[in-house]
Amino acid sequence: MLIDGHGRKVDYLRISVTERCNFRCQYCMPEKPFSWVPKENILSFEDMFKFVKASIDQGIKKVRLTGGEPLLREDLDKFIGMIYNYDSNIDLALTTNGFLLKNVAQRLKDAGLKRINISLDSLIADKAAKIAQKDVLKDVLEGIFEAKKVGLHVKINCVPIQNINDNEIISLLEFCKKEGFVIRFIEFMENSYAKSGLKGLKSSKIQDIISTKYHFKKIPRNSTSPAQYFALDDGYEFGIIEPHLDDFCASCNRIRLTAEGFLIPCLYFEDAMSIRDYVRNCDIDGAIEILKKVLSNKPEKNKWSDESEGDSSRAFYETGG
Ligand code: SAM
Ligand code: SF4
Repeated sequence: MLIDGHGRKVDYLRISVTERCNFRCQYCMPEKPFSWVPKENILSFEDMFKFVKASIDQGIKKVRLTGGEPLLREDLDKFIGMIYNYDSNIDLALTTNGFLLKNVAQRLKDAGLKRINISLDSLIADKAAKIAQKDVLKDVLEGIFEAKKVGLHVKINCVPIQNINDNEIISLLEFCKKEGFVIRFIEFMENSYAKSGLKGLKSSKIQDIISTKYHFKKIPRNSTSPAQYFALDDGYEFGIIEPHLDDFCASCNRIRLTAEGFLIPCLYFEDAMSIRDYVRNCDIDGAIEILKKVLSNKPEKNKWSDESEGDSSRAFYETGG
């Protein structure tokens, strides 16, 4: 079992398989980075798998593949299959912008993917294009419906931003309710890569907006979920991810691996240690020692909850959100 320096059990590995992306979301990567990580610095799926296997042996129970945009990486279905064939009980999930999903959803499901989170910030084509800086809505919706059709469990992620998509909170919730998807609104996490001047909606504001039309109750928090869930009177449940509240971190069970092989203990901070040379040299014990070192130094909480602190200097597209 993996335990961090604050006594929290860590059983969730999130892997950013690439930092590249086909969108330029204003809150994440508004400009193409000055340079991408050179291809030779990126871990192959074979090398990532060596680490995944060892971390499953150490007690990891859930693996999520993210990015950047993970569907840009060729052979993602094969990587999923490698993990599934090693341990079919692993909760195997993917976070994607959905743009390339339509043609690969069945393959991902067949390989062993169980759950998929798809980002959807607007149901209005012009607005979706403004946020992603590309005309994306039609392809994303097709991807979402294909994922549903092939039997993947779909959750929708939405980042509400003032004066951009804050007037769509109810329509996005109603769309997800109708289609049988859970929606999670994510508070915008300020970071130095986002377009300057963006203001996200805090959880209380999101709840105020929903309460203009629906009555809902807070559901007691599941100890490892980053989201606080709420139930409408008809039983439909939606979530809000509230990094600006301290209790977001109290039960943090996750560790993040980047495409370059850095282990990142917390989304807010810049701390990281590399396992790349260890896995490339098949020194798996060495990689697990690094993992344990990183966990022993995992911060107790992020600093989004501290208004006097500045933005995080971590890039979401590198770390995987
Ligand atoms: N490209 C994929 C996608 O967009 O779903 C996966 C990577 S993206 C970094 C993962 C999640 O992080 C998405 O749901 C995205 O909306 C969210 N995200 C990105 N930047 C964020 C920010 N500054 N604050 C809150 N959520 C953010
Ligand atoms: Fe790309 Fe996802 Fe970041 Fe948008 S949120 S720029 S889709 S990595």
